[in-house]
Amino acid sequence: MKIHEYQAKELLAAAGAAVPRGIVASSPAEAVAAFDQIGGKPVVLKAQIHAGGRGKGRFILARRASAGDKLSDFGGVKYLTKRDDVAAVAEVMFQYPLVTKQTGAEGQKVSKVLVQEAADIAREIYVGIVLDRAIGLPVLMACAEGGVEIEEVAAKSPEKILKAVIDPDAGLHLYQARRLAFELGFTGDQIAQAEKIVIALASVYLDKDCSLAEINPLVVTPKGEVVVLDAKITFDDNALFRHPDMETQRDEGEENPADLRAAKAGLTYIALNGTIGCLVNGAGLAMSTMDIIKYHGGEPANFLDVGGGVTPEGAIEAFRIILDDPKVKGVLVNIFGGIAKCDLVAEALVKAGREVGFKVPVVVRLEGTNVDKARVILDSARKELPTMQSATDLTDAAKKVVAAAKG
Ligand code: ADP
Ligand code: MG
Repeated sequence: MKIHEYQAKELLAAAGAAVPRGIVASSPAEAVAAFDQIGGKPVVLKAQIHAGGRGKGRFILARRASAGDKLSDFGGVKYLTKRDDVAAVAEVMFQYPLVTKQTGAEGQKVSKVLVQEAADIAREIYVGIVLDRAIGLPVLMACAEGGVEIEEVAAKSPEKILKAVIDPDAGLHLYQARRLAFELGFTGDQIAQAEKIVIALASVYLDKDCSLAEINPLVVTPKGEVVVLDAKITFDDNALFRHPDMETQRDEGEENPADLRAAKAGLTYIALNGTIGCLVNGAGLAMSTMDIIKYHGGEPANFLDVGGGVTPEGAIEAFRIILDDPKVKGVLVNIFGGIAKCDLVAEALVKAGREVGFKVPVVVRLEGTNVDKARVILDSARKELPTMQSATDLTDAAKKVVAAAKG
């Protein structure tokens, strides 16, 4: 789960990092009020979306098929000194989608804007923590050339990236923070300021079970203050249950509606580009179902794992999600009745068919406990659900659904 810049900065500030003064606005009027509250000093308006690259992004003012879209001449991070300009820029930010390298062509709607006191910048630095899966430990990475081109630096001159491996039990040691501060070229009392921020970043990463915690840029002002200008945090979804307070930070406007529905129903769903919807229990079985569909010349439209216990509610929601995708021309149900017995699964499927309506062919392959009882249930529902057919085994099922989707 990702959170917004302003939320990430709140967490970092609470852990002791120096963050410039900022106020979150939900409308242009609130943005102007925030500018006044900051005292009429220069501010930076920052569109809050989860995607990065906001500074270099543009707002789509009008879609034009032939001439190319009409774009704003500023991005999602805009330095402003006048009250009237704050009002005008905020109008645009709240009204039009912001497109960046990371949003996709449609852009992302902005519902919050951070009005932040502008900082004078002498240097921009990158600091971030990610899990290094090869060694199974978090690694702190830093680069003296931070700012908006960090991906390029990492690709072209990887030797410029400094690294420190973090012990998840002890946290980032002070000596590690100090060494990093030296290597980044900090001197005098900036060393202590930088150490404090890096230690705050590591403690947030560990305390909140993050999969990413990043400050880019960390800046040094001409007066020698070290402050966090932009921050990004992603929580590990598998550990979210340990942080119920973080759940309130979720912005559903940033999430794919199908993913959100699936997550709420306890389903694992990933949309793909093909035409055959898959409803399967177990991730391994789902992978091999997708393989066999491809082997027989079809393309899966999704990965959907309903989990071990298949309930009527889960099956109904799963079919709703799959059939909502207009690309789906056929559905393959592949369930192994172990934890969930086949007859109960068959009943759940029939119930889902009645509830949702199978408007495309649905091929069902069940195997496992009480499979004979299940066949009787499916056979007796044949009249009621004419697009549903049973398969004898997985190959038969794949052939049938591929043929159905093509026909
Ligand atoms: P993004 O990474 O999404 O483009 P950033 O918050 O990093 O957004 O902003 C991009 C650039 O804008 C920064 O590298 C910095 O140069 C400038 N910037 C951001 N916030 C401020 C601020 N409060 N004061 C001055 N400049 C800023
Ligand atoms: Mg940034």
